[in-house]
Amino acid sequence: MLRHLDLSPLIESDRKDIVSVALDIDPTKPEHQDNNPAYRIWLRNALRDTLEGLPKEERRAADNGARRILGFVEEHRALNGRGLAIFAGPDLWREYLLPVPLPNSARYGRPDVWPLLWAADEYEPCAVLAVFRDHARILMAYLGQTAVLDEEALVLDTSTWRFKAGRQPTFSRGTGVGASRGTQRDTFEARVEDHIRRFWAGVAEAAAHLVRESRIDRVVIGGPEEVASAVRDLLPDDVRARVVGIVHLPGYAGDAELRDRVLPVALAGKHRREEELVTEVLDRAAGRSGAVTGRPATLDALARKQVQILVVDRDVTGQVWQCGHCAFTSAVPITHCPTCGSPVEAVALPQVLPVLARRSGARISIVSGQPAARLRTHEGIGALLRYVTAAR
Ligand SMILES: [Zn+2]
Repeated sequence: MLRHLDLSPLIESDRKDIVSVALDIDPTKPEHQDNNPAYRIWLRNALRDTLEGLPKEERRAADNGARRILGFVEEHRALNGRGLAIFAGPDLWREYLLPVPLPNSARYGRPDVWPLLWAADEYEPCAVLAVFRDHARILMAYLGQTAVLDEEALVLDTSTWRFKAGRQPTFSRGTGVGASRGTQRDTFEARVEDHIRRFWAGVAEAAAHLVRESRIDRVVIGGPEEVASAVRDLLPDDVRARVVGIVHLPGYAGDAELRDRVLPVALAGKHRREEELVTEVLDRAAGRSGAVTGRPATLDALARKQVQILVVDRDVTGQVWQCGHCAFTSAVPITHCPTCGSPVEAVALPQVLPVLARRSGARISIVSGQPAARLRTHEGIGALLRYVTAAR
């Protein structure tokens, strides 16, 4: 779903004549149930403000895109989604309807994929490993939906088992209890336990394969405490590190119940990781050991291709100055590029960060809530570096 959105053409596009809009159109919100929903009023005002700030020539170009977007939103009153993003320009129209609300935004210039990047990060799918004693399911959970990927049940065929004494144990079939003699029952039960353990190991192996193959960062395990912990311990280290939570489910749970109980745990786990990431960036930047904060230092690190993870406040605003020729980007106002002498232009920071990150091979982590508030005292941006530079 979200992770399959291919935003590359927009991120890498050098077009500067695009109207980009992102909206929260969630129909479950009361303000959106009105005949003239709040998002439409917001959009009309935001587009007008955006256009008013443009020089005459650009305004004329932008006006067309803005009209088409407004027309689309007017015409489609019952869109089957909670978030809408549109990119419009001469010969260009892209719309994305998403199952999650997007933060409202309207911009002109470079395609602004920031709200979509945030949503793709926030609602990244999570693997749910539902494990019960003799039954397991692997699901992919997205907000509001689940897809079953694999289902496995353990079937024990005890009829072919041979015991040392050469006698078949007597037991009530199907229940696995009721052997005649204690030692044989112990052997039998040990054997059942052994099979169940092997089943769990198989489940852990299948899950590890899926998680690695699909490059899933978050895993939640659900099941009875003993089973869930055992399966977690059976996961290889790199996959166990992606487990963001364990949900205790006493018995069998259907997909809907699983989803409802797992998604909050997955989101909480993600937010806890963001908290840790911001703490690491702030601590290391303070110690000048492998991280930087603030706009000048972060842009500098990006230009040097030193950034491993770029951490940014979702609501970051403000401008930077970018060279139209070599893309040199400055956090402070300049009129001409210091490297090639070409004129520079002012651009909104979130509009250039995706391409800057991509060009330097950095991953972006867009944070909101508490971690974002802590980052805001450092201009809303920081980065974890690939290697430690000598303290200057
Ligand atoms: Zn330049």
